[in-house]
Amino acid sequence: MKIYEKAPAKINLMLDVLHKRSDGYHEVEMIMTMVDLADRIEMSEIKRDTIMISSQAGYIPLDEKNLAFQAAKLVKDRYDVKKGVYIHLDKKIPVAAGLAGGSSDAAATLRGLNKLWGLNISDEELRLLGAELGSDVPFCITGGTALATGRGEQLHQLPNPPQCWVVLAKPPINVSTAEVYGRVRSDQIQRHPSAKRMEDAIRNQSFAGVCKELGNALEDVTLKLHPEVGQLKEAMMKLGADGVLMSGSGPTVFGLVSKESKVPRIYNGLRGFCKEVYAVRLLT
Ligand code: ATP
Repeated sequence: MKIYEKAPAKINLMLDVLHKRSDGYHEVEMIMTMVDLADRIEMSEIKRDTIMISSQAGYIPLDEKNLAFQAAKLVKDRYDVKKGVYIHLDKKIPVAAGLAGGSSDAAATLRGLNKLWGLNISDEELRLLGAELGSDVPFCITGGTALATGRGEQLHQLPNPPQCWVVLAKPPINVSTAEVYGRVRSDQIQRHPSAKRMEDAIRNQSFAGVCKELGNALEDVTLKLHPEVGQLKEAMMKLGADGVLMSGSGPTVFGLVSKESKVPRIYNGLRGFCKEVYAVRLLT
């Protein structure tokens, strides 16, 4: 038997850092939604009681460091499954980009193995398992659009924002999420984005409101470390995107665009700056 699962990328419409907690994590408020740029995960039963991983992407770990492997091991151990699985990751989401590619693969693996092994694990339980793997995994289990609080694992489902085009551009640099969070000082954040106002804009289905409320408290830190991210934002705005923001800890920058006719100009203009540019729709 074989199972296929889609593992879409997420973008942060807003991300605020409230304070550092005693456990070392930052208390955050984020509104996240999914875009139609996805990895495809294939899971098949094998005779040997082991977890095997492969991928066409040469640049991700294929051992116990891979989040899909960790997800499979967690389910196997927790539910005492004495079966093996072969997992193939067809990677389309850029890696270490701020698009939660690894987290989405882990979530898709949890969903897929639940079906492949007939475990009947509830969505709530899957989200709890996901939280053991990473802060973004619970959101990736259910997807859609959500306000995430705590360290990102407490979810409040929201309606989807109005449909639009999303142009994503990832500059060829590596950003360490740990370094960015390590450098952010919540008392020095110039402008805290508002989860409340972004939620209102979404509930009112106001595209202009969503663009106006885009904000990411990590941007200043990443832009200081990598000025090219700021240049990319400026270029995207000049090319005519309606709203522009860095996703997560970066370095991917996304632009929201309501008119399809504007998309080719933005896409082609950005290709002059970086190789990795995608024009996709929101996953609504
Ligand atoms: P987030 O937005 O959740 O911080 P990200 O998009 O910045 O995530 P990922 O693409 O998830 O980052 O990759 C982060 C690290 O995780 C990389 O260094 C990569 O080697 C490792 N990794 C482990 N498993 C995977 C996977 N299945 N896909 C991609 N990267 C993985």
